[in-house]
Amino acid sequence: MGLIGGMSWENTIDYYRIINEMVKNRLGEWYSAEILLYSVNFEEILQLQNQNNWKELVKLMIIICRNLELAGSKAIVICSNTMHKIATEIEAKISIPLINVVDETAKAIKSTNIKSVGLLGTKFTMEGAFYAEKLAKKYEINTLIPDKIERNYIHKTIYQEFAKGKFLESTKEKFLRIIENLIKKGAEGIILGCTELPMLINSQDVSVPLYDTLKIHLRAAVNFSLT
Ligand code: GLU
Repeated sequence: MGLIGGMSWENTIDYYRIINEMVKNRLGEWYSAEILLYSVNFEEILQLQNQNNWKELVKLMIIICRNLELAGSKAIVICSNTMHKIATEIEAKISIPLINVVDETAKAIKSTNIKSVGLLGTKFTMEGAFYAEKLAKKYEINTLIPDKIERNYIHKTIYQEFAKGKFLESTKEKFLRIIENLIKKGAEGIILGCTELPMLINSQDVSVPLYDTLKIHLRAAVNFSLT
């Protein structure tokens, strides 16, 4: 498996731990995942994201994917929902599969028969077409997003707290209020569409199903590797 991590590195530690736990649970105590990790410099990625220079990010990701492939990877896992904004462009230029977190999350939602979901993530994820439009067109799932003030707050908090490994009780309360608002608007489930969010909120905190994109992504990657 080829992982592209470092977005943030704190969060990639969770990827590494959970992937190995999954493999151990599936195969036995001393089994662990064969992983190639390409950990990026997040500063460089953030600058390009904030300049909206997705073209350059596509180029960068393709080079990394090719290096991972040359090193022996059989599939690519990009450890960030946000970077799936450019998944289609990357998929078109690489010859090994990209385990796509949006598709895998959509399949998980479909399997629970839910038609309308709330989406939390960075502004790129909540406002971009790569989640909401794909969910609507390909999977007939309706996406609800928080209002503008809430979106700004979520975006800022992801980078200023979660990506630095900071998870505060007061922040959690604010997020739970945002989730309640989405439920009032009709959300029957909530996508934790940012890989740091499962470290803040879990299913006991919320009255509707939660879709933990980190676990969904990794379950798909492990299934792919073991079949
Ligand atoms: N980990 C975050 C996500 O899942 C994003 C960080 C980023 O790539 O900007 O979207």
